[in-house]
Amino acid sequence: MENETVSRNFIEQIIDKDLEDGVYETVKTRFPPEPNGYLHIGHAKSILLNYGLAQQYNGKFNLRFDDTNPTKERTEYVDSILKDTEWLGADWEDRLFFASDYFEQMYEAAVFLINKGKAYVCDLSAEEIKEYRGTLKEPGKDSPYRNRSIEENLELFENMKNGKYGDGEKVLRAKIDMSSPNINMRDPIIYRVARMTHHNTGDKWCIYPMYDFAHPIEDAIEGVTHSICTLEFEDHRPLYEWVVRELEYKNPPRQIEFAKLYLTNVVTGKRYIKKLVEDGIVDGWDDPRLVSIAALRRRGFTPESIRMFVELCGVSKSNSSVDYAMLEYCIREDLKLKKPRIMAALNPIKVIIDNYPEDKVEYFDVPNNQENEELGVRKVPFCRELYISGDDFMEEPPKKYFRLFPGNEVRLMHAYFVKCVSYEKDESGNITVIHCTYDPATRSGSGFNERKVKGTIHWVPAPMAVKAEVRLYENIVDEEAGVYDEEGKINVNPNSLTVLKECYIEPSVAGSKAYDSFQFVRQGYFCVDSKDSSDEKLVFNRIVSLKSSFKLNK
Ligand code: ATP
Ligand code: MG
Repeated sequence: MENETVSRNFIEQIIDKDLEDGVYETVKTRFPPEPNGYLHIGHAKSILLNYGLAQQYNGKFNLRFDDTNPTKERTEYVDSILKDTEWLGADWEDRLFFASDYFEQMYEAAVFLINKGKAYVCDLSAEEIKEYRGTLKEPGKDSPYRNRSIEENLELFENMKNGKYGDGEKVLRAKIDMSSPNINMRDPIIYRVARMTHHNTGDKWCIYPMYDFAHPIEDAIEGVTHSICTLEFEDHRPLYEWVVRELEYKNPPRQIEFAKLYLTNVVTGKRYIKKLVEDGIVDGWDDPRLVSIAALRRRGFTPESIRMFVELCGVSKSNSSVDYAMLEYCIREDLKLKKPRIMAALNPIKVIIDNYPEDKVEYFDVPNNQENEELGVRKVPFCRELYISGDDFMEEPPKKYFRLFPGNEVRLMHAYFVKCVSYEKDESGNITVIHCTYDPATRSGSGFNERKVKGTIHWVPAPMAVKAEVRLYENIVDEEAGVYDEEGKINVNPNSLTVLKECYIEPSVAGSKAYDSFQFVRQGYFCVDSKDSSDEKLVFNRIVSLKSSFKLNK
């Protein structure tokens, strides 16, 4: 227990203190996505952090769509966000909310501020407002409309709501302090006129609240205690506090900022992912090369692996960037003991065992996972014609190549020793068939120890093999060129996708369904693609290769 106290992160420390001081009696957190794109790994961090805190303190977690800006919002995104949040295991129970359901209350809140003399309608143009705002070094200037009477403001604001003005003609501003050192406090705009159809409220409103005004109200309405957001809102906190104070909420929420999760050389920003989708560079928001939640799921990542990753990252107050290899480490760790290890020939070459009877089939008992007996044993058929992986044979091997080459003997995993006696090529010089002989005395499990071989390779029985397409992925970003070019566009890696159209996998894989995953021995973890795989044609995504230089510092 003592250890736990020591390792509490700064957010937990704030919450502990709030509970101790009686500021709040319970904990309520929320995840407030804007439905303007798919969620990504960074959002997963925010979801799991907020949900985890609610669980830890026996509190509540809300899911709330922050849909106050109709321009970019779509129901497609709402649906995907619901699906992804649920998949991650964050349970909002019956507390699913839409900020747009509070538009009426937000309007009333604005009227309340006007009545208090804390908000006014301003006729300055957007450029003028900017000019009057001042700079970091110079204070701003009061708007000539700042001292309108409460009655006039009430009337004008109602006119704004009733559609009397064109877009941008008038705004409602909070009356705070034009000389504040914090520019966010220089009479920020809290309502604007904008004729836009909203995905939820349709054309009911032609004025929309600004984020900095809407967000604290949303939190307060829901009784959120700790409103956790990312670091870029730190300078907005005084405004958040101003809004909840001036609106006189009892037990107002507290804003706490933490650093965003960034992955080195990986695109997370919605804006950039959207561009890749729109330009057809990727196959949708769930393209397995992306780090949207939908893409990670399709690629074969599990909620457990993402949870482990987020926990390893921890929460911090300063921005930093994490290596993608850490995410790979987490999925390997998660799948290691859970998934069967099967054999697959990805760039297959046929092997004929010349001295093995043509119609004979033997069945070898193979453990599904040597490190986890609970996964049981399967039977793998062995026969005269096999496939092996292309890179397990070389005509002229370099030194220290212990796999198959002319004259060399290797072990076929779980089966026999075989020796390469000859090979055939087609006109263009590609190897088409490798001829081997096998030694019956070397049968796996027979205790044979008269001689040893240095290499063990995997194989697939040719007549029973399941044909599949396998897709290998690299970062969508060209890491050498850097993530962005001079124009701010993504430098796309031309080799980010390799499609191996004709691979052969051992028969136990037949009938696999979307999201089923396996270790292909010596090659990596692979997952049945949920979009393109069917009963007729199996398609696998490589989730991650087996080897890594990544080391976890414990
Ligand atoms: P992006 O800039 O990637 O599009 P966003 O911040 O605009 O993300 P929102 O839908 O507004 O996306 O964010 C929902 C919540 O997720 C916010 O509380 C936000 O702070 C949090 N969030 C977004 N990106 C990250 C990240 N990289 N790491 C941690 N939390 C994040
Ligand atoms: Mg945003």
